[in-house]
Amino acid sequence: MQSELIGRFAPSPTGDLHFGSLLAALASYCDAKHHHGRWHVRIDDIDEPRSVAGSASAILKSLDIYGFEWDGDVLWQSHHLPRYADALSELVKHQFIFTCNCSRRKLPSGMAYPGNCRDQVVPYAGKDACYRKHDHALRCRMRGQVSFTDAVQGSQTVNLETDPGDIIVWRRDQLVSYALACAIDDSDKATHVVRGADLLSSTSAQIGIMQALHIPVPQYAHIPVALDANGDKLSKHSKAPAIITQEPLPTLLQAWNFLEQIPMTPGSVEEFWQHAVPAWSMDRVPAQTRMAL
Ligand SMILES: [Zn+2]
Repeated sequence: MQSELIGRFAPSPTGDLHFGSLLAALASYCDAKHHHGRWHVRIDDIDEPRSVAGSASAILKSLDIYGFEWDGDVLWQSHHLPRYADALSELVKHQFIFTCNCSRRKLPSGMAYPGNCRDQVVPYAGKDACYRKHDHALRCRMRGQVSFTDAVQGSQTVNLETDPGDIIVWRRDQLVSYALACAIDDSDKATHVVRGADLLSSTSAQIGIMQALHIPVPQYAHIPVALDANGDKLSKHSKAPAIITQEPLPTLLQAWNFLEQIPMTPGSVEEFWQHAVPAWSMDRVPAQTRMAL
C-alpha cells in the first residue's frame, strides 16, 4: 500500500496572506485532499527579527475564512529548535560544517560562496555538544549534484557546488537558517511540497541538506508566481495587498482560474471546495509566471 500523502502550507509570519500565498495554499491543499492525504499548516517563525506581531494569527484566520481545514495542530518552526540542533550536530559529525567569518562585502554578490573558509571545519565533540554558539556563521559544504522531477517545472539537475554553493545553515546571530529549518521540517513532516516557483532555486540546497543527512526527500511542485500590474511578484516584500476576507469566493475562483483548473461556478465557499478537491489536477497547472488578473 502506498503511504499517505502529506502536504503542507508554510507561511512566514511577516505580513498578511496575499494572493501569491493563497495560490500556494490552494494548490497544496487540493493536491493533498485530492489524494486523500493530510494537510498541515506550518508557521515559519524562526526569523524573529522579521516577524510581524499578530501576523501568524491573521494568516490562520484568513485560511479559516477561506475554508481551509488543516489536519492536527498548527506546526511552529520555533518549537523545532532542538531538532535543528540535532541535524546540525549530525552534519558536523560528517564534516560538512565550517565556520565562515567572511563579511558580506568580502563575498562576490550573486555568485556561489568561493570557499574561503572551507578549511575551518568544526570538530565533532559528540552528539550533545553545542555547535551553534559561534561568533561566526556556520556553512554547510555542498557536494555533488541533485536531480529531481518537479511536478510542474519538470526535470531539474543542479550542481550543488556552484548553485548555490556552500550555504549558511546557522547564522551569525545564532538563528537557524531558513534552508536548514525548511529542509528538516519538509523531510520530517511532508511527502509533497507545493509552493511558489520563486522558491525553486532554494530547493536544490534543501535537497542537498537532506541527502547529507540521509533523510527522506519529498516530491516537489513549484507553481507559477503571480505578478501584479507592474510585473512585480506578488509578495510581502512587494507590499502585495492582503486578500479580502469579507467575500472569499471571487478570490478563490480567481486563484483557481489562475492555476488553469476546470472552470466552475459554485454558489458558496463550501460548494467551491466540494467541487475543487475532486476536480483538482496538478497536470493542468501552467509553469510560467503570469499576471494575477
Ligand atoms: Zn567564509
